[in-house]
Amino acid sequence: MAEKKLELLSLDENELTELVLSIGEPRYRAKQLFSQLQSGVAPEEMTNIGKATKEKLAEVSYFHLPQVKRKLVSAIDGTVKYLFELADGNCVESVLMNYHHGITICISSQVGCRMGCKFCASTIGGRVRDLTAGELVGQVIAASRDTGKRISNIVMMGIGEPLDNFRNVVKFLRLVNAENGVGIGYRHISLSTCGLCDKIDALASENIPLTLSISLHAATDEKRSAIMPVNKKYGISDLLAACRRYYEKTGRRISFEYTLIEGQNDSAADAEKLAQVLNSALRSKKDTMPIHVNLIPVNEVKETGCCPPSKAAISAFATALEKRGIRATVRRTLGPDINASCGQLRAEES
Ligand code: SAH
Repeated sequence: MAEKKLELLSLDENELTELVLSIGEPRYRAKQLFSQLQSGVAPEEMTNIGKATKEKLAEVSYFHLPQVKRKLVSAIDGTVKYLFELADGNCVESVLMNYHHGITICISSQVGCRMGCKFCASTIGGRVRDLTAGELVGQVIAASRDTGKRISNIVMMGIGEPLDNFRNVVKFLRLVNAENGVGIGYRHISLSTCGLCDKIDALASENIPLTLSISLHAATDEKRSAIMPVNKKYGISDLLAACRRYYEKTGRRISFEYTLIEGQNDSAADAEKLAQVLNSALRSKKDTMPIHVNLIPVNEVKETGCCPPSKAAISAFATALEKRGIRATVRRTLGPDINASCGQLRAEES
């Protein structure tokens, strides 16, 4: 059987150097190739390499950008939601959001997800496969080419659990940060995780100063395990200890996501318990680590039967946290007319 072809978008400059040398091309080609590939130009469209080189490249490698299969644009706020098709026909979603500080893209990290959170549409059919580094950066490149605009921030909050695809995600982070490529600073990247503690430690050792978001969603193990099966493996105290280590090692503040579900985790007692758990696990008299909780009114997904609390209950929850020294913000809903929360478009398609 023929050897598997290399995916060009997944290769960094060093790997491209190896590739060009292996097909008898000069070393400087790697830099040329890297910057063009990472701006979404396929080898066959490149004007500065000859036909013979293109043929040699095509024998050992391939180039594929995620293709726009569906695109929904919110009439309310301009949020754009893409359903992207990958080389093997699988689909993932990405969402582009306009904020005053620039354009943010929310990207997917896996086709499906195996974490099983009860309120989430992405996990309904389980995990199909991990995305490659090239497919991760490909979402950023394809959306930027489609809109003709520069993307300045990335959030890894789409379909999938990024830390369950650790190697490819770390590779992607370095690729998308490379000066000669897309060039997005680590401080403009957020990664959201349901709480795989061993991988949080591993990420802390990678020297990638991004913003970590933890999907907490409940303040007791009993409640968290009921909605997030991952909590049975890594309970809240283990998770918060990993957060504390991450903060100590990187100096980066961590934000917590708390999806509010009516009748399940939205009472005054829940808010009080949340503040108490965070304060006691993360702060001491000497050191007050900044804590930020982002409250997300749950997006109704018809399969899950979860409803958002009333506006009054949401703001009471935020006030209760603030009173106990925890900064709380309520996530603005973008693209409500296009069902912009992740997993819903892919679910519709299958
Ligand atoms: N697997 C990662 C990232 C993907 S989910 C994680 O768990 O963090 C991104 C965020 O959206 C998570 O906080 C997730 O819990 C939340 N989320 C998922 N489904 C939701 C829904 N129906 N309504 C509101 N937030 C949801």
